[in-house]
Amino acid sequence: MTTQTPQKMEFQAEVKQLLNLVIHSLYSHKEIFLRELISNASDAIDKARFESLTRLELLGDDATFKIRVEADKDKSILRISDNGIGMNREELVRNIGTIASSGTKKFLEQLTGDQKKDMNLIGQFGVGFYAVFMVADKVVLTTRRLGESGSAVRWESSGDGAYTMEDADKSSRGTELEIHLKEEDKEFLEDWTIRNIIRKYSEYIAYPIALIDKDGKEEVLNAKPPLWRRSKSEITAEQYHEFYKHISHAEENPLAWSHNQIEGALEYTSLLYVPGKAPYDLYYPERKHGLSLYVRRVFIMNDCKELLPNYLRFMRGVVDSEDLPLNVSREILQKNAVIQKISQATTKKVLNLLETLSKEDAEKYASFWKEFGAVLKEGFHMNWENLDELKRLVRFESSRMQADKYRGLQDYVVDMKEGQKDIYYITAENRKAAEGSPHLEVFRKKDIEVLYFTDAIDEWVAQSLTEFDGKKLVNAAKGDLDLGDLSKEEKKQQKEAKGQYQKFMKDFEEKMSATLKEVRVTTRLAESPCCLVADEGDLGANLERILKMTNQKVPDSKRILEINPDHPIIQKLNGIFEADSTNPKLADWYGVLVDQALLAEGSPIPEPAAYVSKVNKFLAEVLGG
Ligand code: ADP
Ligand code: MG
Repeated sequence: MTTQTPQKMEFQAEVKQLLNLVIHSLYSHKEIFLRELISNASDAIDKARFESLTRLELLGDDATFKIRVEADKDKSILRISDNGIGMNREELVRNIGTIASSGTKKFLEQLTGDQKKDMNLIGQFGVGFYAVFMVADKVVLTTRRLGESGSAVRWESSGDGAYTMEDADKSSRGTELEIHLKEEDKEFLEDWTIRNIIRKYSEYIAYPIALIDKDGKEEVLNAKPPLWRRSKSEITAEQYHEFYKHISHAEENPLAWSHNQIEGALEYTSLLYVPGKAPYDLYYPERKHGLSLYVRRVFIMNDCKELLPNYLRFMRGVVDSEDLPLNVSREILQKNAVIQKISQATTKKVLNLLETLSKEDAEKYASFWKEFGAVLKEGFHMNWENLDELKRLVRFESSRMQADKYRGLQDYVVDMKEGQKDIYYITAENRKAAEGSPHLEVFRKKDIEVLYFTDAIDEWVAQSLTEFDGKKLVNAAKGDLDLGDLSKEEKKQQKEAKGQYQKFMKDFEEKMSATLKEVRVTTRLAESPCCLVADEGDLGANLERILKMTNQKVPDSKRILEINPDHPIIQKLNGIFEADSTNPKLADWYGVLVDQALLAEGSPIPEPAAYVSKVNKFLAEVLGG
């Protein structure tokens, strides 16, 4: 019996904020509270089942897992109970009284004011329990933790900022919720309504959900086997869509899926979805993987990292194996040969699925690429296994395409100019910077396509993606540019100019030796007087910028200045140098040209104030000051 007085506790500040929002702002889609509570009950049973795998005695004579839903119309109470893991006092305070703070903060930041979107966020961010306060003016939760002999706990709250806890009489394990419905939400007591909502959201829940009528008769609402176990020919596209939405809390349809029922040496089923939209936390280091692992229909775990490499973590779906033992743990999975084989085959399946999508529906593939391309590109890093597949899947923006349209390497090669040997790319902060770069002048003049590597990760992609279809990938801003037969004219000019500008270049080089490695005649420029290029083995300007941004030490590497012998500034400057090689202004002019080359490629200049004062001096001279 319980004699002690209830212990009164305050909700954590973030929870209060959230409750306030749930109670006062979210009125549409109230029905999702039921989805959230049933999903919690199912999670709780998963955990109980998992804990008891090795200690079956924990379950006692209550070994049939079940979720029960019962409406008491006279009292306006909806009861939902499960024989899952339950909670003790500490767990109640931690799980219901507080929320992992970073998650809540992000949730609150992401709120859009659009109710439909905001409700969807509630599912994604794992603050689902509080949805019950959309329909309840009081909730009583009674719970007993699996395997603990202490007292059960009764928790009660009206969602108004505080809750109470006290000992309770409940001898069976699990959680029972007593939801006191608000006057205007009594519809949730109707059998018909409850049945529909549960069918809609909880069809694939792995445990029976029983609706109890007023005579105590049970009706199981989710009697179908899980979707992935049914034969492919019996499943409609709509059912595939629904299942995807169910497992990923998504609103949109998936872009593509692949359902594989594998028999032979290994037996397993996989249902793999390419999502339509990226989750908010795709790039967070703790981002979860999207595949769940089942063994002979029994749920083992969500976000099973062992099933797919990290660069495919955006995929959603299920793998159900016949061969793994039920009591697999994460530690076992890491070394398990079965899982490694499944993982290799599943990786191939996903890459094939993506390739098929790219061939059959370019528009959908582009939308996939926009959402997930940068993640897929992580696959180039330290990965030789599926490099060929990845090369066929990778897309970039390019000088030939308008913004947001993507180009694959295969298409690039098909459209190469006659006489073009290599594939050209430029790395830059964004499309604008790439387009403005002086390094592309000769490419524009000759109408040669250049791929834009504008994601930060592209610098690393470039290190693995050095060849495609027998053609080298060449950085347009690095090394000695040789366009082969296409630059015959430039090479001839370069040779002539070399002799003519020899002494001038030497002087330039000497005076700027602190910043420059070399000064030479260009084959890349058409309109600009000069540009900076990196030596073959050195870091490029873009990589340097990225490394500095992430506070990494960047080795000092001097750049090469290329001058355009056709440009009037270079020609005049050479004239001045030849007339008087001791002219004291030469050093200033050289300095300004180097600074301008930095600005043109989007790099910072080392001493902006000195640059401005030099330019002002020149302006004053020109203006007759
Ligand atoms: P989420 O389910 O995403 O973790 P919720 O707000 O739905 O977020 O639930 C918060 C936590 O409360 C759960 O993670 C779980 O630990 C606990 N919980 C909720 N319902 C139950 C239940 N029926 N049985 C046991 N624990 C539960
Ligand atoms: Mg939940």
